[in-house]
Amino acid sequence: MNELDTEIMVGQLQSRGMTRVYNEEEADLLIFNTCSIRDLAERKVMGKIGQLSRKKKSQIIGVTGCMAMAKKDQLFRKLPNIDFVVGTNNITDLSAVLDEVLQTGEKRIRTDDQFEENLDYLVAKRDDKVKAHVSIIRGCDKFCTYCVVPYTRGQEVSRSPDDIEKECQILAHQGYKEITLLGQNVNSYGKDQKDWNTLFHDLLYRLDKIEGIERIRFMTSHPIDITRELMEAIRDLPSLCELVHFPIQAGSSRILKKMHRIYTKEQYLEKVSMLKEIIPNVSLGTDIIVGFPTETEEEFQETYDVFKEIAYSVAFLYTYSPRKGTPAMRWRDDIPNEVKEERLARLMSLYHDITAKERQHLLGQTLEVLVEGRNKDGLLKGRSRTWKKVIFTGQDSLIGTLQPIKIHSFNHQTLIGDLINQPVCASLA
Ligand code: SF4
Repeated sequence: MNELDTEIMVGQLQSRGMTRVYNEEEADLLIFNTCSIRDLAERKVMGKIGQLSRKKKSQIIGVTGCMAMAKKDQLFRKLPNIDFVVGTNNITDLSAVLDEVLQTGEKRIRTDDQFEENLDYLVAKRDDKVKAHVSIIRGCDKFCTYCVVPYTRGQEVSRSPDDIEKECQILAHQGYKEITLLGQNVNSYGKDQKDWNTLFHDLLYRLDKIEGIERIRFMTSHPIDITRELMEAIRDLPSLCELVHFPIQAGSSRILKKMHRIYTKEQYLEKVSMLKEIIPNVSLGTDIIVGFPTETEEEFQETYDVFKEIAYSVAFLYTYSPRKGTPAMRWRDDIPNEVKEERLARLMSLYHDITAKERQHLLGQTLEVLVEGRNKDGLLKGRSRTWKKVIFTGQDSLIGTLQPIKIHSFNHQTLIGDLINQPVCASLA
């Protein structure tokens, strides 16, 4: 979501004649589009901006994104060299804020709690020419006890299906082949706008019809909101990729309750069974937090066992870090860091074993690969439908096309294959 917001801000600034540069020394304006999901992300940005202050740079400096929402005007006190703060719900105001700073030389802040659906998404300036992110819903109403998102991005606001369809049609016309639909919880799409009569699966049926868009992905889903209709859409719509990001967060029902995830381990596993029954070739992704307050060794073991049972293909694994303003902040962060790190290492090791077996299993198989460009060694690179990284030798003309690649070996996380001379196969992975 932050990457897309950055692309929109770049587009806004370019449309007023500014040029993007990649060297901070050359920049007249520096914008830090920040993330608050982890303490480390915030500390990095604070450190970086602090260093700029010590160098006494004369540039205009702005902070946008979730940290802007979480810290608001405190940022001016902590980092006196900042000129403006613009929150996630005020991206539309960026240009006006910049003008005010330029005209008055004073600091400015815009951090509205609620998003107004008047953002011009079409202005986004994307670097990637094959894959694009498309926002469909912003904000989150779930209030997991560890998460800052409901406070930094506000309540759920769905974007109109007509606008989404129009943007996807334009992207298809521009040659984009893959779109990833974004939202903190895409499964909630449309529930805040009953009169549209369009839920997430309805939207997918509309977007699948767009000629030129070969693949549709989405992230992320809350397990409680996934429906049979959505699973059937993934099964039935040719463009829908079979990788479902389905974050469990923890394998113990007691910890899930403390996290306010509103499902138990058993309910989650039931949904997984349903997913596997309806979409037999489905791959699952997850997010997991280890070392949540009061998590016992046995409860961590439940997470480990669920991970092993489901054999996730994609996983984002973290140790818990308390976030200011969240309910979990009230609880003592009582799991020592070394215990958290040790649990994380065990889970990582399991994840590596699972994905190594997957790669082994794929040897000799042919995957449909969307060719994205070249890697640093000059080989063509792309992804399978289930997000496996694949490299192979070929011509530039293949960039932006789907190709059947027979896998002969792998190197760390990357599969290595050969182009085969036959029509694109059905999805194997
Ligand atoms: S559903 Fe996701 S974004 Fe929403 S509060 Fe929970 S973790 Fe945060």
